[in-house]
Amino acid sequence: MQCNPVQEGGEKMSDFSKKYQDYTITKDGQLMLARAEKEQIETVWDRYKAQLPQCGYCELGLSCRNCVMGPCRVDPFGEGPQKGVCGADADIIVTRNFGRMIASGAASHSDHGRDLVEVLLKVSQGKAPGYEIRDPEKMKRVASEFGIDTEGKDILQIAGELAEAMQEEFGTRKESLELVSRAPEVRQQTWKKLGIMPRGIDRETSEMMHRTHMGVDNDWQSLTLHAARNALSDGWGGSMLATEVSDILFGTPKPLSSVINIGVLKEDEVNIIVHGHNPVVSEMIYQAVQDDDLVQLAKEKGAKGINLVGLCCTGNELLMRRGIPMAGNHLMTELVLVTGAVEMILVDYQCIMPSLGEIAKCFHTKMISTSDKARFPKMEHREFHPENARELARELVKEAVENFTNRNPDRVYIPVEPVKLMAGFSVEAILEALGGSPDPLIEALKAGKIRGAVGVVGCNNPKIKHDYGHVTLTRRLIENDILVLDTGCAAVANAKAGFKVPEAADIAGPGLKEVCKALGIPPVLHVGSCVDNVRILVLAGALANALNVDISDLPLAGAAPEWYSEKAASIALYVVASGIYTVIGTTPPILGSMNLVKLVTEDLEGILGATLAVEPDPEKAATLIRRHIEKKRAGLGLPTIEV
Ligand code: SF4
Ligand code: SF4
Repeated sequence: MQCNPVQEGGEKMSDFSKKYQDYTITKDGQLMLARAEKEQIETVWDRYKAQLPQCGYCELGLSCRNCVMGPCRVDPFGEGPQKGVCGADADIIVTRNFGRMIASGAASHSDHGRDLVEVLLKVSQGKAPGYEIRDPEKMKRVASEFGIDTEGKDILQIAGELAEAMQEEFGTRKESLELVSRAPEVRQQTWKKLGIMPRGIDRETSEMMHRTHMGVDNDWQSLTLHAARNALSDGWGGSMLATEVSDILFGTPKPLSSVINIGVLKEDEVNIIVHGHNPVVSEMIYQAVQDDDLVQLAKEKGAKGINLVGLCCTGNELLMRRGIPMAGNHLMTELVLVTGAVEMILVDYQCIMPSLGEIAKCFHTKMISTSDKARFPKMEHREFHPENARELARELVKEAVENFTNRNPDRVYIPVEPVKLMAGFSVEAILEALGGSPDPLIEALKAGKIRGAVGVVGCNNPKIKHDYGHVTLTRRLIENDILVLDTGCAAVANAKAGFKVPEAADIAGPGLKEVCKALGIPPVLHVGSCVDNVRILVLAGALANALNVDISDLPLAGAAPEWYSEKAASIALYVVASGIYTVIGTTPPILGSMNLVKLVTEDLEGILGATLAVEPDPEKAATLIRRHIEKKRAGLGLPTIEV
């Protein structure tokens, strides 16, 4: 990549940036894209355009390279080959590909969960200096769900027993995962009847890889059911462990205030960014930036202090628990470098573009990879383990501080002011805001003040105008008295749009506005990172139990307007398999099998009580969701309106 440093200020950039209005709705995104163009820095949008037209076979899911008799393709027009070399037809090939997509997503979330369980075990053994049990009460609650008697036991002993019990969840010896008991009994019975009760977390992923090997499961329907089981092992297994152990180790989030967008970077401070998904490293960086000697060193180097900010879900984890400012979501991760104001980015894993190291070379920014399982071009690898994390975090913060003197002040470009937000809405915090039980929420639903609730989640994707899907859909939902709970990159988009301050209740419909004003909460609740989608499952389970119905009876929906990731595919499927209708904005690669399309968009209703819909237009998606919510209200005998 060529770099072409520009020395001019930002004044002229605002006009120039208008050409990027089709790329992103965000002001900081448009301005940074213009700056990137002037500096001849290639971004994800440039690479997307260079890929066009993308392969039609792959888009439809009709290409297979599961063995070396292939690769094979099936002709969607019926003129060319209709079977792969082994004899697999379109249904088999598409569903196998879909199953592998789910397996990868489930594996990613679940391996993240495993890493946290391992830290919990190390803490219990006294081998993780700097880490501690921040929420012992939650740990005891979770331990009792695992059948551990906590009476009279030392905290570290409970931590050890819980970590051991959680490690068992990954194996193959169980009939079902422990935490599925949080789902209503009737939902568990559905899973049992269908033979999709998730057993070991790793087992379901491993079995999916086995089934999709040539010559194993060649029934597209049973493959789809196993994909659902695999996704459930993520939602009620790997992701749920990740969230619960993160709360135990780092504290269960409570409502707090912070700021968001690229304006959170500071011209006069050392800027350090944490990016990825797992809070294990970033929590140690958070501790290190508060060490007096390192703050003093920053001052000696001419900075006013050390400014720690986040990107993507590692950012969400720190934002939820510590109020650390958020610089941006997935499509902002390259652009944040173009500010020229970042001393160091530390990455863990997932959603980290391999391009980042190269862009950083255009500036003074140090790029550090930290996980033993995630390496990147042009990044320095400094591996964190629970044993060395506290010390290594200090070393790296010191290096970031020392790098401040290498910053070229003439290239610093931070063109916007940050926006305020409120975050920290764990299930515990939501229930506390409601006075300790879900009853006020149920009463508001019954009275129609809140018509329903929707989880708006997922990524950005250059195929969709950045943040447009999230923000448009969310606005329409809250305007129509639908409470939104969001996570991941969707949560970042909605916060940047100003939906996450209590005053945003003014743009909500009259019923939702009244409830939000009474509780002092925004109409869009930040629930956390991508693994924290399970908080929505847990809340849905609690609501269903309180009403003595199934989750699929509730006026709920899910949406992932701009998803890109295999993890998001797994989330969408576990949400549907849990009984929640879900609308996704980007089309998954399944259109090559109309049988599979019909199954997931129609027939699953009779099997799981919920379906998946694909609707790229967020205005239309809002209408679909509103109609669905009114249908569910009618089913519960609640007053409805015409949509
Ligand atoms: S598994 Fe069958 S369809 Fe796939 S590459 Fe091998 S021969 Fe071709
Ligand atoms: S929402 Fe998607 S892009 Fe964003 S951090 Fe999560 S998986 Fe990655």
